[in-house]
Amino acid sequence: EKEILRKPEWLKIKFNTNEEYRDLKKLMREKNLHTVCEEARCPNIHECWGQRRTATMMILGSVCTRACRFCAVKTGLPTELDLEEPERVADSVKIMNLKHVVITMVARDDLKDGGAGIMAETIRAIRRKSPQTSIEVLPSDLGGVEENLRILMDARPDILNHNIETVRRLTPRVRARATYDRSLEFLRRAKEMQPDIPTKSSLMIGLGETWEEILEVMDDLRANNVDIMTIGQYLQPTKKHLPVKKYYSPLEFGKLRKIAMEKGFKHCEAGPLVRSSYHADEQVNEATKA
Ligand code: SF4
Ligand code: SF4
Repeated sequence: EKEILRKPEWLKIKFNTNEEYRDLKKLMREKNLHTVCEEARCPNIHECWGQRRTATMMILGSVCTRACRFCAVKTGLPTELDLEEPERVADSVKIMNLKHVVITMVARDDLKDGGAGIMAETIRAIRRKSPQTSIEVLPSDLGGVEENLRILMDARPDILNHNIETVRRLTPRVRARATYDRSLEFLRRAKEMQPDIPTKSSLMIGLGETWEEILEVMDDLRANNVDIMTIGQYLQPTKKHLPVKKYYSPLEFGKLRKIAMEKGFKHCEAGPLVRSSYHADEQVNEATKA
């Protein structure tokens, strides 16, 4: 148990900085705007901001009512509800001139609608101010309440993303309050409510799951009509979080991607540095093609 896994070469990335990235970063400082990309020190930021003009924004505060054991977001008593937030986020999207935006949130189990209303308003505000920008939402399970999901789906995001995070067996150890089946049900219902909106889910690997268990997740997602899957390497944010049990090689990720496509996903991103929102701009087009 004392053994600490060494980080393999393919995770030691070199930053390839570019002008667009630097301009955007300067703009963000001037306007005092914040993104998940910067706060999570995401390794893909130069590519996303520079070439792809994609960013992830977190709404409903930065303190979460849950404490998942892989996640670096602070846990505690939730902050107030900021009714101006949708307009502010929409202004940021416009200022950044984003092609694709991912709107994510902390779990707000203190709110009756789980935060669905503010997320829906954010979609509408972005649509008004930046009609060309594609919008992906990454909500919590909204307490598993069907009505909350309906509030969100009625606002018609371009992609509904809800992460399964880990395999069935490890879910109680890895995620707080969320359950594997509730997340599957969430994805299935979203598809039933708005059949033409692509659904998407992400899996982290390296937490001690078996290869078979990964394939089971794929089958479960497909059985609930999920269109897009992303698979990335789990990295331990701090020593207090769950340890990494295995670093998968780029070859293994390649195999998983191939299997996912054979199982019928319309798009799959799989790789050591793949994150939920990585290459999300491409997925909108590919998932709506069919
Ligand atoms: Fe931001 Fe997601 Fe891109 Fe990372 S992968 S830089 S979090 S949009
Ligand atoms: Fe992190 Fe989401 Fe879990 Fe909250 S619910 S601790 S934001 S993964």
